[in-house]
Amino acid sequence: MYEQRFDGRKFDELRKIEAEVGVVPNAKGSARFRIGNTEAIAAVYGPDEVKPRHFEKMDRAVLMVKYDMMPFSVPDRAKPGIDRRDMEIAEVLMNALNRAIMVEEFPQMMININVYVTQADAGTRCASLTAASMACADAGLPMRDLVASVAGGKIGDSVVLDLTKEEEDFEGGATDVPMAFLPSKGEILLLQLDGKVSKEDLKKVIELGKEGAQKIYEIEREALKRRFSNESKS
Ligand code: UDP
Repeated sequence: MYEQRFDGRKFDELRKIEAEVGVVPNAKGSARFRIGNTEAIAAVYGPDEVKPRHFEKMDRAVLMVKYDMMPFSVPDRAKPGIDRRDMEIAEVLMNALNRAIMVEEFPQMMININVYVTQADAGTRCASLTAASMACADAGLPMRDLVASVAGGKIGDSVVLDLTKEEEDFEGGATDVPMAFLPSKGEILLLQLDGKVSKEDLKKVIELGKEGAQKIYEIEREALKRRFSNESKS
């Protein structure tokens, strides 16, 4: 049984969020997204010439996505460098971003999207995807919509939104469902499942995810508006 959340949140409540755009002066676009004690910074470069050339696609841009967890992002020190988990997450991010960015507008070009996790307390792929999406918008890339991403799941008998690491580890492991949405299109871009869940509960998790993503979406839009209203003043 999991009746009361460790951090006192309601089951459908997101952690505290901070979103900021334009945090890396040398990138074409960038963003920082923080949710509780999970934080990701994304930097976007391009569209540029494809290197190496054989990655080139005649009908669209190629997205090169990198995900990396800083060694100081977790209590145990993450091993520096890219491991299999980092590669899997980069692939997951790339698949989602491919459907959000209008890649068909940049044939034979390459867009580099680098995401660094500075602090990890579960939900890093979701925070990374949200940060990457804001960074792409900041870079001026044409997009079908911003991506809003959050994990949901099941702890004991309770369906919950936005799990912490402590919750993920509760009683030998909760069910974790990372999700991503294109909110204004009503499309799901990412749905992963780690653990067991009934069909009915999965529907409830997705519903919570959708509602959470809508809140994240508003926060992303506010961050972008702040950025562009500051720019027009300077
Ligand atoms: N984690 C860790 N060390 C690692 C990888 C992960 O401490 O090398 C923690 C971290 O808090 C991460 C969580 O485990 O957020 C869950 O990782 P998972 O692979 O499920 O992906 P995420 O939930 O971060 O998208």
